[in-house]
Order: sequence, then structure tokens, then C-alpha cells
Amino acid sequence: FIQIENVSRVFDGNNGVHDLSIDIPRGSFVVLLGPSGCGKSTTLRLIAGLETADQGRILIDDQDVTAVPPSKRGLSMVFQSYALFPHLSVAENIVFGLKVRKCDKVEMAKRLANALDVTGLEGLENRKPSELSGGQRQRVALARAIVAGHPLCLMDEPLSNLDAKLRHSVRKDIRDLQQRLGITVVYVTHDQTEAMSMADIVILMKDGRIEQAGSPADLYLKPATSFAAGFVGSPP
Ligand code: ATP
Ligand code: MG
Repeated sequence: FIQIENVSRVFDGNNGVHDLSIDIPRGSFVVLLGPSGCGKSTTLRLIAGLETADQGRILIDDQDVTAVPPSKRGLSMVFQSYALFPHLSVAENIVFGLKVRKCDKVEMAKRLANALDVTGLEGLENRKPSELSGGQRQRVALARAIVAGHPLCLMDEPLSNLDAKLRHSVRKDIRDLQQRLGITVVYVTHDQTEAMSMADIVILMKDGRIEQAGSPADLYLKPATSFAAGFVGSPP
């Protein structure tokens, strides 16, 4: 579904990502994992089109999107900070993007009802973000991402502002949502427990390159390098 072919994006010095090749199957939940500065966000931003590749190309749904702007790539993004509008209600926050795109009223109501349903936010649609818990706010951000109906959702550390207990439940919410909608999710985290419990495929990165890619079980049981063993391998 997504092919990243020999993509590099290098910043001053030697930072960035180097010669990345990743194949992401349709409908999969792929986690980019690795320590701070290894290039996870840069990779996600390259897929989103928020960053332009110096070399290589990116295909989404068999289309070369390397030069296509973010809004035309057919994807949604969820970030660490929920970036909700404080003066708008939950419902208004969720449909904001649809309104901007002049979506039909009936269609919008239908999509809103569906987004509230799948994120479990029914009954909260008239609240302001300040009247919600952190987990509920994060679910509003999820609802806003899925209401557009895109087949691809990119998430950059969406749970890092939540406490440990909430993180656990929203993790499950996100996975359930992805399955229910049948969408492809590329998810960034530096938390190996999160990666191992959520991913179909884990892509472990180090210094802007892929260290190892595979199923959580593969990485856990057969770490290819001592770095992989230290990061995700089974404890001694
Ligand atoms: P974190 O877990 O801390 O969010 P990350 O894996 O998401 O880290 P990136 O944000 O992708 O890391 O950054 C990868 C490397 O590229 C880092 O060394 C970072 O300093 C550098 N970098 C990222 N964006 C820029 C930029 N716009 N200009 C210069 N250097 C950058
Ligand atoms: Mg990052």
C-alpha cells in the first residue's frame, strides 16, 4: 500500500534519514520504533509530505506521491499534542476539516455520528475540550482524524501526554478503531512495550536507518543485532 524506496532526507550534519526502504501492506498497523533522534518523525513526515525527500520516492496506493502536497495524499495525522480548538465543542472540533472543505450537511452529520460512535464519545459532543479528560481529548483528536474517511492514518506519539493507565486503554482503543475501519496506520513511538503490543510490523530504527523490521515476535525472539536485542529483545 505504501512503498518507501531508497528515501533520504538529510539535515545539516548527518542527521535525518538515510536510504530508507519500507513496504507497508494495506490494512496493517506498522510501528516505527527507536530512540530519540533516530528519524521516526522525519519518516512519518516524509510519508505525510510535510518533509520532502532529497532522494528516492514514495508510493501510496501505486501512485508516486513524492511531489504531491500533504492535503492531496489522502491521509490524516494525529500528533502528540491534540491541538483541539478550545472555543469549539467536541462535535465542532471533529467536523472542522469537513466544514473547511464544504462537506454536505447531511453527509457531515452522518460522518460525525459514526466518528462519535467508533471513538466512544457519544454524549460528549457538546462539551468543550477543557471539560474532557486527557484520554477523551485524545479520542476527539482520533475522531477528527478518521472523520475524513481516509484509508491511511499517521500517528506521532499520540499517547505520550497521557498517564500510564490511560495510555493502556487508549492504546487498545486505537487498535480496535484501526481494525474496525480497516485502515492502514503508521504509528511512531519510542516505547517498546507500546510497539510490541500494538504492531503487526515493527520497524526498529537507529541513526536514521532501519535496524530491523518484522513482527513483534520476530524482533523479540530473533533480534538481528545487539542493539535490537537491547531495545526489544527478550530479557536475559
Ligand atoms: P524523537 O523520539 O525525539 O521525537 P525522532 O526519532 O522522531 O525523535 P526526528 O525528529 O525524525 O527523530 O529527527 C531525526 C534527526 O534529524 C534528529 O537528529 C533531529 O535533530 C534531526 N532533524 C529533524 N528535523 C530537523 C530539521 N528540520 N532541521 C535539522 N535537523 C532536523
Ligand atoms: Mg519524533
